Amino acid sequence: MDYDVLVLGGGIIGSALAYELSKYNLNIALIEKDYDIADDVAMVNTDIVYDGTECKDGLMAKLEMMGNNMMEELTSKFNVPFIRTGSLVIAEDDESIKTIEDIYLRAKRRGIDNVNIIHENEVYKIEPNLNTAVKGALYSENVGIISPYDLAIAYAEVAFDNGVIFRLEEEVLDIQKLATGLKVTTSKNKFTCRVVVNTIPKDFYQIDNEKPYDKEESKILTYMLLDNEYKNYFSNIVFSLNEGSKGYSLPTFGGGLIAASITNNVIDFNTTLNIVSELVGDVDSENIKTMYHSRYYKDNIIIDDSDIGKGYVKVIGRSYAAVTIAPAIGKLICESITNSLKSTIKKNFVDKRRDFYKFKELSLEEKDEIIKLDKRYGKMVCICNQITEGEIVDSIRRPLGARTIEGIKRRTGATFGNCQGAHCLSKIVKILSSETDKKLTDILKDSKSSKMLLGRIKEFKEM
Ligand SMILES: Cc1cc2nc3c(=O)[nH]c(=O)nc-3n(C[C@H](O)[C@H](O)[C@H](O)COP(=O)(O)OP(=O)(O)OC[C@H]3O[C@@H](n4cnc5c(N)ncnc54)[C@H](O)[C@@H]3O)c2cc1C
Repeated sequence: MDYDVLVLGGGIIGSALAYELSKYNLNIALIEKDYDIADDVAMVNTDIVYDGTECKDGLMAKLEMMGNNMMEELTSKFNVPFIRTGSLVIAEDDESIKTIEDIYLRAKRRGIDNVNIIHENEVYKIEPNLNTAVKGALYSENVGIISPYDLAIAYAEVAFDNGVIFRLEEEVLDIQKLATGLKVTTSKNKFTCRVVVNTIPKDFYQIDNEKPYDKEESKILTYMLLDNEYKNYFSNIVFSLNEGSKGYSLPTFGGGLIAASITNNVIDFNTTLNIVSELVGDVDSENIKTMYHSRYYKDNIIIDDSDIGKGYVKVIGRSYAAVTIAPAIGKLICESITNSLKSTIKKNFVDKRRDFYKFKELSLEEKDEIIKLDKRYGKMVCICNQITEGEIVDSIRRPLGARTIEGIKRRTGATFGNCQGAHCLSKIVKILSSETDKKLTDILKDSKSSKMLLGRIKEFKEM
């Protein structure tokens, strides 16, 4: 057999699983079609860590609770930004009060602590900038924000350092059952293995002889990212139950605010602006850094390990809370596989991510020390977020280092400031080109067909 376990798909779920499996004496590879791990994990650097209160499905609630409970330890071990901001589900009328009472009772039945119904004046004490007329709210102290890309890349880096092979730019074409084990055919190779875990959300292969799940109910989520000069900053995550302005808002690690609306169809800029203004107050278009549309998945994720005896496990579906539940899914599937293969714990497993500097968080003395060691930390590349050349070079040279501009942006936070890269993008392209010894015109944004520079328009002496 080429491998004991093949993990298909390098999203946050595949990366979490690779990390958990790397604690065992197993020969593991992860296959990902893109240039980088967790390319699709997030549009911005902040996601919500839910607590199992909001979801209707009991099993999903358990996964959310388990994931939520694991976050403190994981994020402090991996140096990943995570804050328990708290969340408010605001009720603006009697019907919504009834809804939050039902959610509260369900949370109690599920054994979720630190969730309470609070009255109007308490709501404004907790969130003074809220300018909607509320009658009450469901307040949870458990809910928080996390940097999803940091978590995914941390999982993958530690797995890599503990021997997992990452096969990037390799697309899985088919999976077949053999007399013993399985065969995975990719765009570059054919591999045999004892167990396959398929975390690719949509694809179906020969082994999936019947499509087990093809329902993909989704709505449209529109994000407006407001800059850190927006006057009505919320420090909690705020959800609105109001049908006309259904959505939520969350503070971001960059100091700004995400205002999101959930609608049945794609909506234009002005409609989005009206909806989010109902929740976060009048938004001046000057404060809008960017706007994105995406699918908002309600579906439950199913872990199908009914074929574990044949060596096949599949994670089916998509969820709006996949980041929250990824740690729980990784742990549960790992347990199932290691029990089935009777695997033993690896004695020399190193549960640590290689150190890196976040320059702007250091004291002046620490900054001086580092610049003395490496003068590239003295060269500021992203002025808005204070990211230095040293950090950009490190993000390329690290285990599973960045090979694209998006990879650098997500690892360092460069270009996510108020200027959105207007000042630093060209410098980053230059650094990546020199670090990887590639021509400037060969530098990619994130995928094969995403060249940053299409070609030279004139023959300059220097470019
Ligand atoms: C707008 C938005 C907001 C969200 N907000 C939150 C939030 O606040 N909190 C939260 O908990 N979650 C949130 N989520 C959910 C979460 O970010 C994603 O659902 C999650 O990242 C999905 O992870 P995954 O590993 O299941 O799938 P993916 O990230 O889709 O990973 C699957 C991987 O498989 C690869 N792949 C696909 N086909 C092949 C192939 N044939 N061969 C090899 N590789 C292949 C893909 O390139 C991909 O990297 C949000 C999602 C969206 C879209």
